[in-house]
Amino acid sequence: MQTQNLGYPRIGSQRQLKKASEQYWAGKISQETLFEVAAKIKEENWKTQIDAGIDLIPCNDFSFYDQVLDTSLLLGNIPDRYAPVLQVPSNNELDLYFAMARGYQKDGLDITAMEMTKWLDTNYHYIVPEFTTNQEFSINSEKIFNDYHEARQQLRDKAKPVLLGPVSYLVSGKEKEPGFDRIELVEKLVPVYVEIITRLQQQGAAWIQLDEPCLVTDLSQKEKDALKYTYHTISQNISGINILVATYFDSLADNTELAVNLPVAALHIDLVRAPEQLDEILSFIPETLQLSLGVVDGRNVWKNNYEKSLALIQKTAEKIGSDRMIIAPSCSLLHSPIDLDLETTIDTEIKNGMAFAKQKLTEVAELKSVAEGNYVLLELNKAAIDNRSSSPKVHQQAVKDRVSAMTETDAMRQSAFPVRRKLHNERFKLPPFPTTTIGSFPQTDDIRQLRSRFKKGALTVAEYESAIEQATVEVIRWQEEIGLDVLVHGEFERNDMVEYFGEQLDGFLFTQKGWVQSYGSRCVKPPIIYGDISRPQDMTVRWSKFAAAQTDKPMKGMLTGPVTILQWSFVRDDQPREQTTYQIALAIRDEVLALETAGIGIIQIDEAAIREGLPLRQSKQSHYLNWAVKAFRIAAGAVQDQTQVHTHMCYSEFNNIIEHIAAMDADVITIETSRSQMELLQAFAGFHYPNEIGPGVYDIHSPRVPAIEEMTALLAKAADLLPARNLWVNPDCGLKTRKWPETKAALENMVAAARQARELI
Ligand code: GLN
Ligand code: ZN
Repeated sequence: MQTQNLGYPRIGSQRQLKKASEQYWAGKISQETLFEVAAKIKEENWKTQIDAGIDLIPCNDFSFYDQVLDTSLLLGNIPDRYAPVLQVPSNNELDLYFAMARGYQKDGLDITAMEMTKWLDTNYHYIVPEFTTNQEFSINSEKIFNDYHEARQQLRDKAKPVLLGPVSYLVSGKEKEPGFDRIELVEKLVPVYVEIITRLQQQGAAWIQLDEPCLVTDLSQKEKDALKYTYHTISQNISGINILVATYFDSLADNTELAVNLPVAALHIDLVRAPEQLDEILSFIPETLQLSLGVVDGRNVWKNNYEKSLALIQKTAEKIGSDRMIIAPSCSLLHSPIDLDLETTIDTEIKNGMAFAKQKLTEVAELKSVAEGNYVLLELNKAAIDNRSSSPKVHQQAVKDRVSAMTETDAMRQSAFPVRRKLHNERFKLPPFPTTTIGSFPQTDDIRQLRSRFKKGALTVAEYESAIEQATVEVIRWQEEIGLDVLVHGEFERNDMVEYFGEQLDGFLFTQKGWVQSYGSRCVKPPIIYGDISRPQDMTVRWSKFAAAQTDKPMKGMLTGPVTILQWSFVRDDQPREQTTYQIALAIRDEVLALETAGIGIIQIDEAAIREGLPLRQSKQSHYLNWAVKAFRIAAGAVQDQTQVHTHMCYSEFNNIIEHIAAMDADVITIETSRSQMELLQAFAGFHYPNEIGPGVYDIHSPRVPAIEEMTALLAKAADLLPARNLWVNPDCGLKTRKWPETKAALENMVAAARQARELI
């Protein structure tokens, strides 16, 4: 029996990579320094994995921004528009790479970034590969070879290069021209993979991991054929290297036969998300295939239940023998916080039931030992697991009772949208194409320092609040000056849209260093839901009330929705996710009412993550959507008709879920669309989406300032698709990651674009 890991967090336990990349972008450090930081992180990660006793250790899982973008660069899939970046004499491959990720607006060039979207059902964002009709591929980057070389020096034969598999790579991208299907590019792509694998083999690699998470999704016949073609071609051209195909996040289900019959050495399956798939896999498994059992949850923070894992391990051992088995985390540990040992403030009773990436590696090694008969470890683990599930800190009967007592009417607004809309028009008297923002304004170093000094006790409540008040007043004045219609308070008092609420709700705990990469240098520190959730007091009323009093314009109250709070937290695994979500929904409902009572007429409940929570398999989707939409409606349902409820969603494909989005019945929805050039709006158009909608016209994930004409063009596109009177004008998302100069310039342009659009009506 062997052990392996599929991928390790690359930001560094102190977020070294984030800091170094941002300094490099700001021109403050050299590329050599950035590379040194990277080398150190890799070396530490590898050491951690050796020390834990892992047999096959990933390399090339490190990335300066995103592993899918790395793959595009490796394969020479670089959209033509980036060619001028390399013509700037001081630029090299890394600058090109960052230009693709972030856009490029200097040296007289103005190039948009590539599209970014969420990786399967995670909150990790990847850079979407672009494909054209005459697409060619060739090896274009030495990174994977250099990484393997480095890894080999430290890890010897334990080093296992990791690469996104060809079919999942194609599936994760999109066609940039009409008239072809990107999956057909597989024939051009596979020879390059063969070359890559051959080179790695020549360097000494005995294993290579090809991630094919598309195997846990509903595949078309063409995609299935592409998978067969890929792995048969690879096996015909290469021998003597073990190919591991890795799947994760759901079950192989109807792709089981296909997957187990691929001519590869080993298959990795996720037995945390989909333990039910094991029986079928074991009944189909050919005699030569090794099976990697993903039994340690790479997506959550709880200690592994050894007894449960052992049952899966033993069942497999009986069927195929332990020498054909590999024990592993369920997926790459990229999605876990790094090291629980760095946490000093978590309640010890709860902490004793937790494990982060580093601890998960130990669990993998311990599970092997348990499977080989070490029952002391099993008993110790059992005690920790029992302790957590019976802790009185976890259970609040009143909360459970309130969820059971919820009714259908609790999830209904008083009147239908047309009635509410009329009341809103009378109340707010907004122009056509009303302008607004999504909530946050730049979180400058000053603002961050303010919050951290307050947290450390270096500022009194009065000092802190008056400084936040000042920032809020300034941003309100500025919004008035440039002529925005519906204002926001700027969210300066918030560290993060989920953490801020979690901190004020019972049932949540927080880490000090539990960072997880979200995209590029951006990391999130998800709260941990360990118990039943309730709201001891108002959470946002103080700031919304203050802000509303500063202006005659409407001021939006800003809340985070129940599904997003759930989705962006680590969630307890001892009850269904929907139960936890309903508990949050009731808490938000109370907050919505408190805002309404305080006179706030427009309340935005962000549900940035609804789409991301969608199960990968269609068969599981409607169950999820039903409870997710219900949770939103519970949160929003109690207000008067006169109150306008907004919601906001980030990166989403709305195609198959549009009727559920409509069922949320928000008066206004704002969505991310600008990087996709309004493509995402087509789902709304096709559905004749009846409520109001603000398709983002300004990509806030890039520092680039869009020109007025660019935004008027997007608005014109939107107005072709939906009635102009239903449209709002806003950025794609909140502005907290941006700097002030670009934000000001972009929003001034946005207001100008809205004014021009009004003239056309
Ligand atoms: N209101 C939040 C903000 O503006 C929304 C962020 C999000 O959707 N990710 O920051
Ligand atoms: Zn957003």
